[in-house]
Amino acid sequence: MSGGRVDLHTHSTRSDGAYPPAEVVRRAAARGVRVQALTDHDTLSGVPEAAAEGERLGVRLIAGVELNTESEWGDVHVLGYFLDPADAELEERLRWLREQRRRRIELMVQNLDRLGIAVTIEHVERIAQGGSPGRPHLAQALLEAGHTRTFDQAFTSDFIGKDAKAYVARVGLGPAEAVALIRARGGAPSLAHPGTAERVDELVPLLVGSGLVGIECYYGEHTPEATSRYLALARRHGLVPTGGSDFHGRGEHGAALGGVSVPAESVAALEAARARWREYHAARVGER
Ligand code: AMP
Ligand code: ZN
Ligand code: FE
Ligand code: FE
Repeated sequence: MSGGRVDLHTHSTRSDGAYPPAEVVRRAAARGVRVQALTDHDTLSGVPEAAAEGERLGVRLIAGVELNTESEWGDVHVLGYFLDPADAELEERLRWLREQRRRRIELMVQNLDRLGIAVTIEHVERIAQGGSPGRPHLAQALLEAGHTRTFDQAFTSDFIGKDAKAYVARVGLGPAEAVALIRARGGAPSLAHPGTAERVDELVPLLVGSGLVGIECYYGEHTPEATSRYLALARRHGLVPTGGSDFHGRGEHGAALGGVSVPAESVAALEAARARWREYHAARVGER
């Protein structure tokens, strides 16, 4: 792999990003990205379009996904790499997650309505452009309806922040289940932005037991001290340090495409970890 930036965490209109998959790749390429993972929430549907554009522009596109989980461990998001968009079994699980996601947004719309904050599900769906709906789409609708002055204001206790009256908890996977699902489908799971998780020193060994392969050490919101701490955690547990922008193209969440420095060795190490595991698995099947 020669030169170029690496970005292993990006979102498109297939979930809560602002730009279509091919456009995200074009913008990444223009910023010098040569390896990009598209990691939309609960869907791989943007991967073929992004990969085709990547091929045209010399960007290697890694098929990824981000699974936001619900548990007592805070905001635990699990990234999955090297998945197959044509994997029907995986798609079935993702479809269920997307249904739960939509239901949760509908419930939050109803709660807001009861609190006198009028916003419609049709408006949210229009913003989602057919993508997997999430709180960022609802935040955009609240902004457009004039209930908030900024996109980020929606994530406070007055609207749909975690401690807000209108907030609805997620029905979905726990952190270990998300890791196990990605491993079971032949992918490499990495713990996203570990700073949003609680008691991460206890959580990481638990997830390693379920097959965690990486941890997102390089992230826009990490201080140099935080990055060092997560790199030490990665070393302690034999995890691959991953990283990315978490670009959404909307609000202040996430960095610019390619804006977080990620070593190319991380990609090679992720692939090696996955290959080792596949060999081991094949040998075990052979033993039977
Ligand atoms: P959801 O999965 O629907 O609960 O939405 C979570 C997503 O909302 C995260 O993945 C972020 O993209 C976005 N988000 C969470 N907190 C904030 C925030 N304070 N400001 C802007 N976006 C946020
Ligand atoms: Zn998102
Ligand atoms: Fe996330
Ligand atoms: Fe993300």
